[in-house]
Formats: sequence, structure tokens, C-alpha cells
Amino acid sequence: MSFTVAIVGRPNVGKSTLFNRLLEQRKAIVDDISGVTRDRQYGVADWNGKTFNVVDTGGFVQGSEDVFEREIAKQVLVALEEANVIVFMVDAATGLTSLDDSMANLLRRSTKPVFLTVNKVDTNERLLDASEFYSLGFEQIFFIAAASGSGTGELLDAVAELIIDDDASAEALEMAALPKFAIIGQPNTGKSSLLNALVGTERTIVSDIAGTTRDTIHTHYNLFQKEFVLIDTAGIRRKAKVHEDLEFYSVIRAIKALDEADVCLLMLDAEKGIAAQDLNIFALAAKKGKGVVVLVNKWDLVNKETNTARDYETELKKRFAPFSDVPILFISAKEKTRIFKAIEVGLEVYEHRQYKIPTSQLNDIMLKAIQAYHPPVVRGNPIKIKFITQLPTPVPSFAFFCNFPDDIKQPYKNYLENKLRENFKLTGVPVRIFFRKK
Ligand code: GDP
Ligand code: GDP
Repeated sequence: MSFTVAIVGRPNVGKSTLFNRLLEQRKAIVDDISGVTRDRQYGVADWNGKTFNVVDTGGFVQGSEDVFEREIAKQVLVALEEANVIVFMVDAATGLTSLDDSMANLLRRSTKPVFLTVNKVDTNERLLDASEFYSLGFEQIFFIAAASGSGTGELLDAVAELIIDDDASAEALEMAALPKFAIIGQPNTGKSSLLNALVGTERTIVSDIAGTTRDTIHTHYNLFQKEFVLIDTAGIRRKAKVHEDLEFYSVIRAIKALDEADVCLLMLDAEKGIAAQDLNIFALAAKKGKGVVVLVNKWDLVNKETNTARDYETELKKRFAPFSDVPILFISAKEKTRIFKAIEVGLEVYEHRQYKIPTSQLNDIMLKAIQAYHPPVVRGNPIKIKFITQLPTPVPSFAFFCNFPDDIKQPYKNYLENKLRENFKLTGVPVRIFFRKK
């Protein structure tokens, strides 16, 4: 899932009202990611069983007409760059304005579908007035009242119709079975340099194929007999055109690439260290059940003493806690140090994520660990864990069957997770633990 709808329009036409309506029951999943400015929103909507991202590109702008113009041009560029379809919103209550006109001029050049959406059509009289918007010359026009929801169903139908499931070409199917990596990180951490360094060494590219959106390209690599797919977000290959919003883009792209990947190679700049946004992406990757490898790039620039790498690693792990069992590699894309190691470790993490532990082995080891340290007694009832099984999910998940599942608290869960990690190969993958009544 990575189909994206962008809502554009001058201030006050009702963009946020529509945005909130589209999201309705669902919470904006990334609303707490720093770097997404307050007045820009990003969320996930469902319609007729199809899921898509919605971006409300419209920041509130104060100032003169020419500040408006600039802001609006920027919004349109965001939309053209990021979206699969653009909802261009105008306002029937105020009628056509010169800002609508200039926006329409920019949007008419778009190769992506533009749905002209006339909002605030609350009454039949308004519908008559609204016909003036036909003059903007867009083929698809919708009349809605975002506040009450009238007409939004038809708009959503039209959007949903454009979402096609990934085509099942032979190549796409073959790629689907390969490990998929996404290189993620803030602008200038060295993502493109790593990609180029990997590609430059050998004839490695087997084939390219579009991802679920036009924003991602899946490239099939065969590097020293190791096959994998790198998910390249549009931003890595052709640098973002709108520099002011680099950070905003990088967040959206990161999320798209994450959705399609098995393992995320999170890239940091060694000199800059880790920022709140990196931690957010890290947490999101873990929440989505993706494997993680941390690459500390530009290690060539760091003055190194005996314990520099070890100390750096210790510091990072503190920040990643509680999920600190992740591989951390110190690389230089520029000098090509440890870049193949990065791929090797990525493949290991992929294996760990696929890992199915034999049930007898799982029970032998974990029941012993439970024997050695029982869950604390709650309300006088001893808690007995009898049996453990790994669930058939893509992310390693374990069900512990016991008499009082609700009485087991987080610290004991952490203990079990640590024991699982000590005994089985789970480095780099989030682990899920459930307690169930037998
Ligand atoms: P944005 O700046 O484009 O995000 O616009 P908002 O969503 O903040 O809406 C601007 C104003 O228009 C608010 O006062 C809304 O309550 C109002 N509004 C939004 N949709 C409708 C509608 O369908 N009918 C009417 N009458 N007002 C609306
Ligand atoms: P991206 O925005 O994450 O794709 O970053 P780039 O690959 O464009 O790199 C940003 C800058 O960092 C460029 O000037 C690169 O030459 C530089 N750079 C990338 N990797 C390294 C590295 O390992 N060492 C040093 N010294 N510079 C690097």
C-alpha cells in the first residue's frame, strides 16, 4: 500500500475538513513525527477495502498575495512529486478566484489525474453557482460539502478506482520472493552514495521494476551471488526538487519505502549523530515489524581512538532501547568500507525475520527459563506457563499459553524477550509476545 492522494487548494476552501473526514475513524499514523510541520497532515484512509495515504499539503499562510502565490506553487509541486492523484479543491461559497486560476494553470500540466473538487456545495443554489468552475477545464469535477460529507463518496469511488493491485508479472512475482531492503535516512546522510558505491563495483543490476507506487523502484541486485531487492525511493535517484521541504519529503518517502521492505537500513551521519526524526523512523520500523540494520556512515570523517566505535554503539543502543538488539555498522560510502558487510548483515536480519524455531526446541529452552524465574504471583495465584508456540506471522511472534494471561506484566515480558534473543537468532528484528489462555 502506498497509493497517495494529495489535497491542494488555497487557504480556507476546506482542505483540512475533507482530510479529517477521509480519515474519520483512523488516526493519522505519523502525526507525531517531527519534521512534518503542524499545518501539514499525513494519514491513512480506507474506502471499499482499499487503503491509501492522504496528504493535506495546505499550510496556512499569512502575508501578501505574492507570498500566497509562492506557497501555492510549492503545494502544487509537493503534490505533483508525491501523489498518484491530486484533489484540487475550490470553494463554491466564494466562487472562482485568481489564486484558483493560477493553481489550475500549474495543475493542468500534470500528467497525474487531477480531480477538481468544488467544496461547500451545501444547497442546490450553490450547485448552480458552482457550474462556473467548469471554466477551469478539468475533465473530472466533483461537487461536495466536506462539512456534511455529501458527495465525498463519489470522490472516494473515483480515487479507489485508480488503485490497482500490484501487477502479477513474472518478474514482479520473482522479486516478491527476494529479500527487500529500504535505505532510509535524513537528507545528506549518504543514501545515494551508498547506492552508487554498491552499483559501481560490478554489473549488479538484474532488473528494475516499479513498486506499488510510481515513487518507488524495486531494483533486483545480484551482488557476489547474493540476490536482493533494493527499494529506491524517487528521492534517492533524482534528488528532490523542492528543497524547502526536503525533510517533509524524506519522512513520507521513508514511510512508503518501509511499507514495501522487509529490512530497513537506517542510515545516520556519523558526525551528526542521531536525531529525534531518526528515532521516530526507527520506532515506526519496529512497529511495522520490519528488520532494522543501523549504518553509521561517513565513518572516515571521525577521529578514531581505541574505543570510539564501541562507545558510539553503546550510546546508540541506549537511544534505541528497549529494542536495542540491532546490528550497528560503521561504514563509509565514500571510501567503500564495509558496504558489502552492510548488505550481508541485512540478509542475516532478513533470515532472522523468517526464522521459524522448532516447537520442541522453543519449549525446552523457554520452559527452563521460566522455571528459573517465574512470573510474579498476582492476587495469590501462581501463574503457570505451560506451552509456547511461534505464530505463523511474517514477524517473529510467540504465544505463551498460561492460566492468567492478563496478570503478566511488562517486566516479565521483557525477561522472556531477552531469553528468546539470547537463545535464538533474532538480532535486528522486533519480536512480539502474546499471552493466551489455554
Ligand atoms: P483549509 O484552509 O483549506 O484547510 O480549510 P478548512 O478545512 O480549515 O475550512 C475552512 C472553513 O470552511 C472552515 O470554517 C470550515 O468549517 C468551512 N467549511 C469546510 N467545508 C465546508 C462545507 O462543506 N460547507 C461549508 N459551508 N463550510 C465548510
Ligand atoms: P543522501 O541525501 O542521503 O542521498 O546523501 P548523498 O549520498 O547525496 O551524500 C550527501 C553528501 O555526503 C555528499 O556530499 C557525499 O559526497 C557525502 N558523503 C556520502 N557518504 C560519505 C562518506 O562515507 N564519507 C564522506 N566523507 N562523505 C560522504
